Amino acid sequence: MNPISFDTTGVCIAGVWRAAASRQTLPVRNPSDGTRLAEIARGGAADVDAAVQAARHALDAGQWGKMSAAERGRVLMRMSAQVLEQADELARLEALDVGKPVKQGKADALALARYLEFYGGAADKVTGQTIPFANGYTALTLREPHGVTGHIVPWNYPMQIIGRSLGAALAMGNACVLKPAEEACLTALAFARIAHEAGLPAGALNVVPGLGEEAGAALSAHPGVAHLSFTGSVAVGQLIQAAAAKNVVPVTLELGGKSPQIVFADADLDAALPFLVNAGIQNCGQTCSAASRILVERSLFDEVVQRMAARYQALRVGPAVDDLDVGPLISDSQRDTVQRYLALAREGGLNVAAQTRLPAGLPAGGFYVAPTLVANVPAQHRLAQEEVFGPVQVVIPFDSEADALAIANGTRYGLVAGVWTRDGSRALRMARRLQCGQVFINNYGAGGGIELPFGGVKHSGHGREKGFEALYAFSSVKTIAIKHD
Ligand code: NAD
Repeated sequence: MNPISFDTTGVCIAGVWRAAASRQTLPVRNPSDGTRLAEIARGGAADVDAAVQAARHALDAGQWGKMSAAERGRVLMRMSAQVLEQADELARLEALDVGKPVKQGKADALALARYLEFYGGAADKVTGQTIPFANGYTALTLREPHGVTGHIVPWNYPMQIIGRSLGAALAMGNACVLKPAEEACLTALAFARIAHEAGLPAGALNVVPGLGEEAGAALSAHPGVAHLSFTGSVAVGQLIQAAAAKNVVPVTLELGGKSPQIVFADADLDAALPFLVNAGIQNCGQTCSAASRILVERSLFDEVVQRMAARYQALRVGPAVDDLDVGPLISDSQRDTVQRYLALAREGGLNVAAQTRLPAGLPAGGFYVAPTLVANVPAQHRLAQEEVFGPVQVVIPFDSEADALAIANGTRYGLVAGVWTRDGSRALRMARRLQCGQVFINNYGAGGGIELPFGGVKHSGHGREKGFEALYAFSSVKTIAIKHD
């Protein structure tokens, strides 16, 4: 039986599904067993051009451009309600497509609904200013949509990233073209159907699946796109920023990370422990904000390694639909990458403190890798510097607050950080000095934090999504100065 109940082979332009101009499709594999899951459209430059034109039309002549902010908010609220209604089905689809346990897919679907609710509620709350200026003038600012916005998203959290990026862009009145990832885009396709069923006007959201170097590159270079939002790798982010520079348009880059959780000797270890491990293995480690480095004050080091190791031994790995702790990686090439890093650890004589045992009987074609904890890793080792994007955590000892800070800030990334301590002053000192976009004190991830601005510094990117901040990113300011008597 086909596990997918709708036709996945189209591009969506002006609310109509049709074959890509190339007439070609791309296969999608189920990471849990390697079988073919679906075919998706191989969109390209012609489809992107049609999508951008449809979006422009929706703004200039369509129903979307005529809607008030409150009406746009209501549409987003209806979309949210329908996502909630279909959350179980979306979770199942995401589990099949990405290989993540169903409970994580469900969390993602609920987050998508919450983003739409948050931005639906915010649509008519973004105001400009009146500005004290010279006598005889009244000066004010308007917040205006950019126009057509391009959204290029990865495969690891399609629903969450679509929610935060499209939710904010639509709330501000932009018309969007979405290029989902070729590895996993089934929930993006399902979401576009839900959006239109919920009454999103034609052309407000257009979807062009396809390869990054084809559909993605065409979208980032299109002169009709007024803002680009990109979530993905540093290398592709650099290409996107170069393309945006050519067209002189703003770009939001949400890139990778090598995020630390820093555990001081006075930390509440019982509270910290679940976060230390879960934030490393969630989504099989394929999370931009994964806590891939655990920095521990030396007096507590052995105990933390021991207790983390015990959790690694207890992790259960299996197919996404079995809904265990860890599923497969997204692809065979991602598995090869992770295995190369593990080989590096072995060849370098690093201390593998724990490796989860893969159960017998895993589907042979699945992209499984054993979650691995590596202790006492030198801070400059590649394993402690590079984003592995798999269930691999390194544990690094430190001797002082200054030492912890230097190690934490000592990579090219700066996405998020966690600090575990009972000393409030130290927590705030660390929070101010850590080079990153989000700091979590005595927690990690804040449960996804839809309301909390998110993004990086250094090679983790620039610009912010999530929270109210994204509404500013997806709009620009127009100043009006009126001369009167
Ligand atoms: P990727 O950069 O390979 O792909 C991301 C998207 O870009 C996909 O849709 C892909 O098709 C497209 N793309 C690829 N080449 C392109 C090109 N030449 N022009 C335009 N588009 C192109 O990234 P990935 O490997 O799929 O995702 C993993 C990376 O994403 C990791 O580094 C991870 O940390 C990062 N990420 C960051 C965040 C964040 O919020 N900061 C969230 C999730 C993932």
